[in-house]
Formats: sequence, structure tokens, C-alpha cells
Amino acid sequence: MKRLLLAGGGHAHVQVLAALAREPLPGTEVLLVTPFARQMYSGMLPGWVAGHYREDQIVIPLPALAQAAGVRLSEGRMVGLDAAARRATLADGRVLEYDLLSLDTGPVMGRDAIPGAREHALFLRPVEHFVRLFDALLARARTEPLDLAVVGAGAGGVEIVLALAWRLQREGSAARVSLVAGSDGPLAGFADSVRRPVLRALQRLRVTVLPHTCAAIEAGRLTLSNGTRVACDVPLLAVGTSAPPWLQGSGLALDAQGFVATGPTLQSSSHPEAFAAGDVATRVDAPHPKSGVYAVRAGPPLALNLRRALAGGELQPYTPQARTLYLLSTGRRHAVASWGPWAAAGPWVWWWKDRIDRGFIRRYGGSA
Ligand SMILES: Cc1cc2nc3c(=O)[nH]c(=O)nc-3n(C[C@H](O)[C@H](O)[C@H](O)COP(=O)(O)OP(=O)(O)OC[C@H]3O[C@@H](n4cnc5c(N)ncnc54)[C@H](O)[C@@H]3O)c2cc1C
Repeated sequence: MKRLLLAGGGHAHVQVLAALAREPLPGTEVLLVTPFARQMYSGMLPGWVAGHYREDQIVIPLPALAQAAGVRLSEGRMVGLDAAARRATLADGRVLEYDLLSLDTGPVMGRDAIPGAREHALFLRPVEHFVRLFDALLARARTEPLDLAVVGAGAGGVEIVLALAWRLQREGSAARVSLVAGSDGPLAGFADSVRRPVLRALQRLRVTVLPHTCAAIEAGRLTLSNGTRVACDVPLLAVGTSAPPWLQGSGLALDAQGFVATGPTLQSSSHPEAFAAGDVATRVDAPHPKSGVYAVRAGPPLALNLRRALAGGELQPYTPQARTLYLLSTGRRHAVASWGPWAAAGPWVWWWKDRIDRGFIRRYGGSA
């Protein structure tokens, strides 16, 4: 009996589970190790913050999916890997041996990336922790005139600050909301046609955009890169995700940022029996941004190649798309679509995004 270890219940692995449910793997014991028995869908997180979705609508329940796939699900967090010995270590001390490994554990948010963040900030990742703490923040904001700041103005940070500002205004909260956006401003790297409607939404919702980075966080305030101090009761950290630190000692080939280096078949560049997809991996032959869209697209080729690797067949190369569609929500039921230089905005974009997102959740057994 061969052993396939799936680490992480991320965007690519939910599709591996669905593929295994359609066509089981003969002669293979498959184990999914992931810290939570459900996968929160980050694409719908801003909609949940804004109050458009209930919590149960933005999750994929993993136990049913695993059961249908004939996969054993074990809650646990990988903290170590010895790729040469084909052995993974979990936070609870368990050591798991495998013949084939597939990593889809996502990235991490470094607790110490900004001094004081560990003690005072609310991190967007792990999303499970964020969701648990957000309701308490909302309850406080209903009764106290809090100063809140989202630190980081990439797509995730911008969607969250707009969702937060929208929700607080709708609930009559007196909270003030800022976005620490860096000198390049919100959505750096996106076309102006995408940034313009987003900047209008930030203005409409009275979000103060601070054109600096955050240098330090203390209780009740942030210090910005220009030395200015701004009042902030709760900083929400949406900055830079990084590679899980446990990859460092694994022996797997890593890229310069410490993510798993993979090639066209999604195999590790150093260990062919180790596969990786989603944000934890970097396609060194075909680099692309780390985003949920790419993680989703990698699911079917990953499922196919895991099957072929176990059967001793020839693996199929996979070419990620050059450009992806981003659908960014702007607080109310309104969104901006971005496809390279092309952009469109309006309630219909939200409707489109809502349909895609709910469809994704339902396809994997959720109740969106
Ligand atoms: C607010 C927000 C909104 C976003 N919106 C979009 C969007 O609209 N479109 C888009 O393309 N991208 C979006 N992103 C980015 C997107 O979330 C990531 O690119 C995506 O989650 C990456 O998918 P993944 O499968 O690699 O990892 P994840 O989705 O993070 O899944 C990782 C899985 O592994 C598990 N895990 C974590 N650590 C371990 C461990 N040590 N051992 C075992 N299991 C582990 C986790 O619990 C989880 O189940 C958004 C991000 C945020 C924060």
C-alpha cells in the first residue's frame, strides 16, 4: 500500500479531493493533514466582513469531502519536513512517513515583520483566527469610537478595508478607518483603470489613505515610515505573506523567498516525489503572482499528476495562464473587474463575483 500525504486543505487540494471522489486511487492510503476541519474561502472573506455572507456560507467543510474521496482527514499542522527521509512532523509531535507528498499549505504572515505586530495586531492569516477575533472587534466598534487601520494595500487589504468601512458605517459606528498604503498607494501594480474606481470607493467610505509604510506598532498607535504617529486602537495586518519557515530545513529546493521551487509537472525541483501548488509553491519555469486564482487552476493538473505518479505513468506539464481575472469587492454589493489593463465596475460585477464564489463553495459541498 502506497502512502500519499496531502498537507493543507487549500484551493488546489479541495480539487484533488473532489477528483479522488470521482475516481478513487487504487492501492493507496491517502491522508489529509490540515489544522482546521474546514477551509475558509478568502475570496468571500471581504463579503463576510461587509456582512453580505454568514460565516457558514464562506467555508468548505473538509470532512465530507475527504470521506467521499476515501481520504483520512487528520487535524494537524505540519512544522517540519525531511524530504530525503520522506517524513513530515506535525506540531503535536506526530511523525508521518509518505511515498508521495503534496503541499498546499498556503503562505504565512510573519508575526514579526513589523515591530510590535505580534503583540498588538490582528492578522488576516490564518483566516480562521481572524474570523474568530473579528466579531469581538465589531462589538467594540459599535460602542467605542475606535481608530482602526488596515496595514497593507494589496488586493486583500483594499477589499478588507472597504468591507470594514462599509460595515461600520452601515451599523452607525463612529469608528475611523485608515489604510496604510505605502508610497505607491492602494493596488500598486494594478492598471489605473482598476485603481480609479477603488480610490473613489475609499473616498466615498471616508477611508484615510496614508501614503507611508508602517514602521512600528505600539498599544494605541502606529509609527509610519516618515516618523508620523497615528492613533490606532486595532491594526489589521494585511501585509506581505511569506514562505512557511519549516521549509527551510526540509531539504526541498526553495526559491529566493523560501517557497517550494516547482516545475511544469508541479513536482519539487529537487524531490520528484514531492509536489506543491498554491501560494506555498513557486513555478520557477513560469513565475506568476501568488493568488487564489492560480491556486485553483493548479488543482486539476495536480490531481492528474499525483494519480500518474502513483501509477508510474508519464506526468503532464501544466502551463499557468499568463493573466488572470481579478474581481475586487468594494464594500457594498459592488465590485471592480480587472483583466490586465481592462477594467469594469458596477453592481453587476459584484453579482458576477458572487455567482462564481458561491458556485465554488457549493461545488465542494459548502452551503453558500
Ligand atoms: C482578504 C483576502 C482576499 C483575497 N481575495 C482573493 C481573490 O479574490 N482572488 C484571488 O485570486 N486571491 C485572493 N486572495 C489571495 C488568496 O487568499 C491566496 O492566494 C490563496 O488563499 C492561496 O491558496 P492556497 O491554496 O495556496 O492556500 P490557502 O488558501 O491559504 O490554504 C492553505 C491550507 O493549508 C492549511 N495549512 C496552513 N498551514 C498548514 C500547515 N503547516 N500544515 C498543514 N496545513 C496547513 C490551511 O489551514 C489551509 O487549509 C485573497 C487573500 C485575502 C487575505
